[in-house]
Amino acid sequence: MKPAVTVIGLGPMGRAMATALIGAGHPVTVWNRTPGRAEELVTAGATPAATPADALAAGGLTILSLTDYRAMYDILGPVADDDRLRGVLAGRVLVNLSSDTPDASREAAAWAARHGAGFVTGGVMVPAPAVGQPGAYVFYSGPGDAFAPHEPVLRAIGEPRYLGEDPGLAQLFYQAHLDVFLTALSSLLHATALVTAAGVPAADFLPGALGTLTDIPAMIGDGAELARQLETGDHPGHLSTALMMGATADHIVRTSAKANVDLRLPEAVKSHYDRAIAAGYGTRNWTALYEVIRARG
Ligand code: NDP
Repeated sequence: MKPAVTVIGLGPMGRAMATALIGAGHPVTVWNRTPGRAEELVTAGATPAATPADALAAGGLTILSLTDYRAMYDILGPVADDDRLRGVLAGRVLVNLSSDTPDASREAAAWAARHGAGFVTGGVMVPAPAVGQPGAYVFYSGPGDAFAPHEPVLRAIGEPRYLGEDPGLAQLFYQAHLDVFLTALSSLLHATALVTAAGVPAADFLPGALGTLTDIPAMIGDGAELARQLETGDHPGHLSTALMMGATADHIVRTSAKANVDLRLPEAVKSHYDRAIAAGYGTRNWTALYEVIRARG
């Protein structure tokens, strides 16, 4: 018999995780604030819990999939504050796979410790439909002795990538990856708006634009050389100088203004080049922007 698991929070992500765990043969107990979201899971074999305390008591491991960490306190706070229920948290391991800041994760780990619970934080790095599928992976951090025994269970969600003891690390990696992702999505939409404002159908543009995204690794390598440059401040300006790239950033702002589309994203990009050039990095490689980006301007 596989270990029991509880999933609290049945949005698209929580439902996908519960489905993957049921599929992997775990007895799964589920709870959600709004009733009705468990129905399909119950049909698939999950056990609905009447209260959060019942949900905790049923599972060996409790996974939380909520909008943010505030929701965890809304759900588990009353359990922790109720003298009759307090023992339900003690000795449990909570794995919170909700998005929030690294500090919120650290505070939550301390909160859980005060109530006798182990706490692992995590960030699921694929969309809900890809959970449990090949290629799915999840960042985790927190005490190794809380994470390691449950690693085989968590594997059903996606490949676990354990980053270390600091409970904030998984959130930091999650946010940093999402920083790349969300900015790329906004740039894709902005660029499409620019093209369609000129009367060009989006379909004529987007496949090539996606190619630009996937060409980036070939342009900048596997990341190791880029990391070396950023860490050592080595920005030789023989190929793509900040001056040359900054001129292009300015052209994008002016083209956007003429097209009457939103200017904030290209202006933000141009501001990086402007500041780097003003700081004397104009003839250095574009990577020198790091020197101004890493300090709050
Ligand atoms: P949703 O916002 O759709 O679901 C959130 C869940 O949180 C629901 O079960 C909701 O309950 C519950 N909730 C929110 N606030 C409260 C509260 N105050 N008290 C009790 N319950 C609350 O999110 P997703 O399922 O899409 O995502 C969950 C987490 O996973 C998020 O942190 C998200 O960033 C992350 N994630 C999601 C991905 C995705 O593809 N969806 C991809 C990667 C990460 P109720 O049903 O009652 O509203």
